[in-house]
Amino acid sequence: MASQPVNVAELELPELEDALAERGKPRFHARQLYRWVYRRGLTDFELMTDLSRAMRTELRREFIVSTPRGVSEDRSLDGTRKFVLELADGRRIESVFIPDTPSMTFCISTQVGCAMSCGFCLTGKMGLLRNLTAGEIAGQVRVLAAATGLLDFPFNIVLMGMGEPLHNYDATLKALRILHSEHGLAISPRRITLSTVGIVPGLERLAREPLMPNLAISLHATTDEQRAKLVPPNKKYPLGDILEACRRFPLKKRSRITFEYVMLDGVNDTPEDARRLVRLLSGIKAKVNLIPLNPAPGIPYDRPSDARVDRFAQILADRHITVSVRKSRGQDIRAACGQLIVEGGTKKTAAQQMALLLN
Ligand code: SAH
Repeated sequence: MASQPVNVAELELPELEDALAERGKPRFHARQLYRWVYRRGLTDFELMTDLSRAMRTELRREFIVSTPRGVSEDRSLDGTRKFVLELADGRRIESVFIPDTPSMTFCISTQVGCAMSCGFCLTGKMGLLRNLTAGEIAGQVRVLAAATGLLDFPFNIVLMGMGEPLHNYDATLKALRILHSEHGLAISPRRITLSTVGIVPGLERLAREPLMPNLAISLHATTDEQRAKLVPPNKKYPLGDILEACRRFPLKKRSRITFEYVMLDGVNDTPEDARRLVRLLSGIKAKVNLIPLNPAPGIPYDRPSDARVDRFAQILADRHITVSVRKSRGQDIRAACGQLIVEGGTKKTAAQQMALLLN
């Protein structure tokens, strides 16, 4: 009776133990498999030398470890590396390695494309092609850690690649549990940041999770009218509701919510915007990360001058809000925020997308 092989990459440790037991194999092999796959970066059962030869042969018959396949890599002059990864069904995603920020950081995707359609983001132009599975989300970390030689070293993870993590809630949280396993990469939730446009039911669920990543909210505007134009989900989840969910969000000692704010020249970068932002954030343990727009063809906004960014930042700092200006990394290879896009989107022809990629 030939049945579908079990995909180890999609399973949390207890699920893998069950899968082994159901096939008459000792549960403790799950820990061994986790160590090989996550700590050593190996997926070929033949190379797992602490398993008997007979067991390796059986595993090869009944189990697989599917892993996103690296199809190309671009290296930026600043050390940023952008990986194009192909999934089992041929769909492609992008993941980015950003060195020394001051830590090593992997920026990974949660969806192929994105349904949020933010007006300044290239991924939004693709539309949503599909959700990633937990194994595909965690698999990006395996691939990047192996490619950068960081399997044995600490690194941070930001869920800031393609997609909206709270729009693919279950797979995203499952991936975090897989990555957290002490028999695998053992990544602390303090090293993980989940960035969201602010899907309120998702925020409320997240607030009750035992495994709680750091939270970043993509705010980008200070009035509902302005935000609904830039971030369409605001029509459903307006600023007041998002900030209310943030006020209720349980934070560990000394931790804060990051508010990301893409600065668009002449649109949301005035001193009045800065002062409104201060008022909106009152009562929230917040820090603000200003992201001067990374311009791209097809994006109808411009990057403000450094002077405008500095003036905005100064207003926040004067009101005792911690503020940083995000340096754009990997712009020369289109690896910067909002620049991740691969072919196959629904909203553009292949030729249009190629033009975007090559420009
Ligand atoms: N959907 C989630 C996760 C993606 S994070 C979210 O929106 O938070 C991607 C970050 O890059 C977001 O803060 C997004 O607003 C920002 N971004 C998107 N396009 C950008 C651009 N063209 N320039 C600078 N930052 C951009």
